[in-house]
Amino acid sequence: MKSLLTAAHVLTMDDAGTEHEEGWVLLEDGFVSDVGSGIEPEADERVGLGGAVVTPGLVNTHHHLYQTLTRARAQQATLFEWLVELYPTWARIDAEAEYAAARTGIAELMLSGCTTVFDHHYVFPRGREGLVEAEVQAARELGCRIVASRGSMNLGAAQGGLPPDELVEDVDAVLADTERLAGKLHETGAGARVQISVAPCSPFSVTRRLMVESAELARRLDLQLHTHLAETVEEAAYCLELYGCTPVEYLDSLGWLDRDVWCAHCVHLSDDEIRRFGASGTGVAHCPTSNLRLGAGVAPVQAMVEAGVRVGLGVDGSASNERSHLFGEVKQALLVARGRGGPAAMTARDAIRLGTRGGAGVLARDDLGSIEPGKCADLAVWAIDGLELGGAADPVAGIVFAGAHRVERLYVAGELVVSGGALVRADEGEIARAHRAQSRRFAP
Ligand SMILES: [Zn+2]
Repeated sequence: MKSLLTAAHVLTMDDAGTEHEEGWVLLEDGFVSDVGSGIEPEADERVGLGGAVVTPGLVNTHHHLYQTLTRARAQQATLFEWLVELYPTWARIDAEAEYAAARTGIAELMLSGCTTVFDHHYVFPRGREGLVEAEVQAARELGCRIVASRGSMNLGAAQGGLPPDELVEDVDAVLADTERLAGKLHETGAGARVQISVAPCSPFSVTRRLMVESAELARRLDLQLHTHLAETVEEAAYCLELYGCTPVEYLDSLGWLDRDVWCAHCVHLSDDEIRRFGASGTGVAHCPTSNLRLGAGVAPVQAMVEAGVRVGLGVDGSASNERSHLFGEVKQALLVARGRGGPAAMTARDAIRLGTRGGAGVLARDDLGSIEPGKCADLAVWAIDGLELGGAADPVAGIVFAGAHRVERLYVAGELVVSGGALVRADEGEIARAHRAQSRRFAP
């Protein structure tokens, strides 16, 4: 079955930044088979898009879906204060709540143009089964790709860590469960719908041994590695006190600066550390709204890009952003880059590149992130006839500067999963009601 999308302003995000103002995209068997402008190829089905902007589906590189259950808490807190307040509430998580949370967060992400969701889940209260499986089920039902992580915490308050002792796990149990999930759920090759990564939470909640053994496991199973890093000045002070070095030096000492690793935040990196990231191939999930919400600072993204660091965007946890809107992060990334470096620091197209091609690179997915023959048919279609784009001379800059609210259409593997700005496979109102019922169990 060949489907042709026509009358489209196509932003391919290929290496040359090719753009077809009156373009078309041919989809076949879940992949893009051709893209261009002018004479249109034969197809079984033709869909006219009326001049809408078509971008690659966005790729989210950092999130905690479960946190949709606990939004707008600890409103003036620093990261550490916010964590300490929320950990005991998060300890109530179970598979039923995780499923409701994941449906809400993934639905929000899809409606903001996201076709691949990475989720960093690291809260595993003893005896609660099926948490990762619940979010994978939610993604499968809604029609989105997911990279789910088996996160972990094992450095509790009694040992000088931040999380309460009831939330820390045994190293061997973490590693065994990670291997179990990878064996059960991880897909490989172009078009993979579900993948597993290994993601110990952070240097202040995980021991050196678990960091090292997580990396060994990931490399043995050929999985990607992820953690939080250099988010706040308090974290830097903690690392200095506990390990006698900066968070990046600590990570380096663990063998974690490498091409199979990406880190969330990286707000507080020196120029040398940025070069070290670039040279080692270590990736970064830039989460500007969360960093601003927690007053953590602004990551030096332009310097990272110039140093050849792989950078993608993340909405981060819904309790420190409150919104799972990835296109909002495209706009936010542009604004904070310009806040640091002036109006020439980042273009609208560069910002979209971070959210698409950049994210795919961070997740080591060369089958995602651009509209080129052979890539997955994951596309976001942005209407340009709404109130906010009236008078926009350049529709691509228009959707970024105005901050497009909601995607018009979303395709994952060539399948329409959002149509007319609504989910195709589920009812948004029902998801919201089920989520509210679960979130009452997490009341402060
Ligand atoms: Zn996070």
